[in-house]
Amino acid sequence: MTLEQLELTVDYFEFDKQFYQQLNATPLNNPFLISYNKKAFDLIELDYDEATKEAFVSFINGEKILKGSTPYAMAYAGHQFGYFVPQLGDGRAINLGQTHGWHLQTKGSGLTRYSRQGDGRAVLRSSIREYIMSEAIHALGIPTTRALALIGSTHGVYRSFEEVETGAVVMRMSPSWIRFGTFEFFARQNDAKEHLIQLSNYVIKQSYSHLEKDKAKYEKMFFEVVDNTAHLMAYWQTYGFMHGVMNTDNMSIAGLTIDYGPFSFMDYFQADCICNHTDHEGRYSFSNQPYVARWNLEVLANCMGKICRYGNLMEYLNTFMFTYKKKYWALMSKRLGLDVNSSSNSYSSLIKQLLGAMESAKVDYNLFFYTLSTLESLEDITPILDICVYRQSVQEWFLEYQKALKNENKTFDEAKAIMIKINPKYMIKNYMLQEAIEKATAGDFSLVNDLLYIAQNPFNEHKAFEHYAKPTPMQFANLQLSCSS
Ligand code: AMP
Ligand code: MG
Repeated sequence: MTLEQLELTVDYFEFDKQFYQQLNATPLNNPFLISYNKKAFDLIELDYDEATKEAFVSFINGEKILKGSTPYAMAYAGHQFGYFVPQLGDGRAINLGQTHGWHLQTKGSGLTRYSRQGDGRAVLRSSIREYIMSEAIHALGIPTTRALALIGSTHGVYRSFEEVETGAVVMRMSPSWIRFGTFEFFARQNDAKEHLIQLSNYVIKQSYSHLEKDKAKYEKMFFEVVDNTAHLMAYWQTYGFMHGVMNTDNMSIAGLTIDYGPFSFMDYFQADCICNHTDHEGRYSFSNQPYVARWNLEVLANCMGKICRYGNLMEYLNTFMFTYKKKYWALMSKRLGLDVNSSSNSYSSLIKQLLGAMESAKVDYNLFFYTLSTLESLEDITPILDICVYRQSVQEWFLEYQKALKNENKTFDEAKAIMIKINPKYMIKNYMLQEAIEKATAGDFSLVNDLLYIAQNPFNEHKAFEHYAKPTPMQFANLQLSCSS
């Protein structure tokens, strides 16, 4: 399909006017295409050739408005670092409408009614990070928003006193852009009950359509949000993903990873790792993520309580940790080639011991699993020990691991066959993104495209990038990033 043929539909104007602002993007100066994502093009059946046309850049920049599209920004509220903020919203994002079940949204397209003190822009570095990382997360099987394309510009954007950066726009796509914070905003209005019913019906149609005819559909929707969020947390913890800003406005009602900011994949394992430089108290530290998710769900329950039996919501919420742990132990066992069902007791103590051992060993978290999956045999674990700064704890853990395999009557080769499907060779680390950003700032976008390809094919060989399959250099490991982007 060509851009001319692509038709969008907008379904948000069924809500009252206080819930959105209808407006066009404010285009960036001298926009140019940096990268486009063929996999996302496939999802909306757009021809690859379209990316080479000037009209495509105008489309991402908000100058060209597609058939059927009426751009708008959404209002939402949210708890930021535990404190309620009654009015947030798309301060720099513009929604264009949906096609093929994907709601298109540009990030960095100028001021909206919800910009507060912001400038409505996104700098190149953070746009590159979101563009690549959302695809990396998807390639690991983790629910997430996607990215269609990235444009740069000569538009000056100020984030620090010392330097001028340039503005960029990522075209994001998602099955849903509704956040827990959207419910918080609706719950604060006059006639909250009516508005919440309307919003819930909208969400059910969009993300939980099998519930449409259910008598207890609002309660059940909440139950499914609890389960989806628990599963999302299990995936994040399994792969060492830290979101960095788990405010309720950054929590997707569809259980997706959204709003990529100062995120990071864990370099070496550290349970209390904090990737967000402004998170002084570690509210969003790695090990806190599941607990924060539960806290955020409680905020959602407080809103949904206006249209459901609150007691039922809270009762279901009590299953969150159980669901999370069940999924987490299952995924982690798989990363070790073990089968959680074949064991009378779960492998939680084996995994806890491993995490402790990894922390003492200062070993690259994801690389540990890949190296294990590619060991010749358990007779010689030198390749693992070679990536450990301190070895003893890991050496000791291997004795327990051998016992677990023996209990399952499983050979190491059989375990490896399971592991190699879940333990990728390549993970997108912050230092790699930083290299791509530095090159891009100097006008060379080749590494942005190379990293996108690696992100999308993390289980494949990438001969020219063998160095990225090594431990993160210590000087770049577990660094913190700031929120200003
Ligand atoms: P975040 O936690 O980065 O997802 O953003 C929190 C809130 O601030 C959201 O309402 C954003 O739309 C808004 N925001 C963040 N950066 C900007 C910006 N540069 N200009 C306008 N609004 C922004
Ligand atoms: Mg956000």
